[in-house]
Amino acid sequence: MPGESLSAAMEAARALEQKKIASVFTNLGENVKDRAEALQVTEHYLEVLRSIHESGLLAEISVKLTQLGLDLSADFCFENLERILAREKKDSIVWVDMEASSYVDATLDIYKRALGKFPNVGICLQAYLYRTQKDVEELLPLRPSIRLVKGAYKEPPAIAYPKKLDVDENYFSLAKTMMAAQMAGRCPRTAFGTHDVKLIRRLAEHAAQNGFPKSNFEVQMLYGIQREEQDRLAREGYRSAVLVAYGTYWYPWFVRRLAERPANLWFMAKNLFAS
Ligand SMILES: Cc1cc2nc3c(=O)[nH]c(=O)nc-3n(C[C@H](O)[C@H](O)[C@H](O)COP(=O)(O)OP(=O)(O)OC[C@H]3O[C@@H](n4cnc5c(N)ncnc54)[C@H](O)[C@@H]3O)c2cc1C
Repeated sequence: MPGESLSAAMEAARALEQKKIASVFTNLGENVKDRAEALQVTEHYLEVLRSIHESGLLAEISVKLTQLGLDLSADFCFENLERILAREKKDSIVWVDMEASSYVDATLDIYKRALGKFPNVGICLQAYLYRTQKDVEELLPLRPSIRLVKGAYKEPPAIAYPKKLDVDENYFSLAKTMMAAQMAGRCPRTAFGTHDVKLIRRLAEHAAQNGFPKSNFEVQMLYGIQREEQDRLAREGYRSAVLVAYGTYWYPWFVRRLAERPANLWFMAKNLFAS
């Protein structure tokens, strides 16, 4: 994180933009417990969009539905998302994060409803889930924008690939489907949310062999991770974006992520010493 405040995130975005790297802002938080808090988050994102538009920054936002009140009511959450979508420009995407598996159905339901009214809403899908192939097939007729990630939560082997190798293969296969869909005009934006350099190169090779343009090949990474790869992608004409998280909720968020997946600590330590 560049800092706790939105202004710190915007400053980081300005520096990234110098290197032709776009930003995606996300205010850390999840599972809000009351409506007032969800409304506050919604107002905050409306303010963020206003700041982005005023500053002309190359930036989008990514939201978590449980932060917009999904645990309280799906309709209430949808209304909050709708207000945010109504404020975003038509050529920018509002990304919807995917949370733990118990939220996937509810998230997809809200996403599909939103997509019916706002073509500029994007969804994050997780390659570790067996169901994702089918979810992609069901979404494609609706012209979704998709950010594909491996998945960050601890899920049981009954619903998610337990082995990294299988997750990576499923990622590759889903990514190929997404690229083909984008070329066929069925998927306005596809983004690969990964730091896996080997996988990115394999995907870029597939893209080159199949006429998928570099200018549509988008990789999104977390702020400060694999910086060299972020820079290289931007330099070489790929679409490079960085998820810039901010907010005061960073400590509980970090502890929760660690509890779910202790490997995150190893990642963090490696990147800390590499930078
Ligand atoms: C832009 C973006 C949005 C995301 N949104 C979601 C979401 O909505 N839902 C969801 O479930 N998950 C989300 N994730 C997290 C994602 O699911 C993975 O948990 C995370 O990206 C690690 O997987 P990887 O693809 O980077 O590959 P891995 O094979 O796990 O990692 C590849 C290499 O990248 C480095 N690395 C990976 N992660 C980290 C880290 N956290 N810190 C330091 N180094 C790291 C390590 O060097 C590692 O060897 C998002 C990730 C990104 C980049």
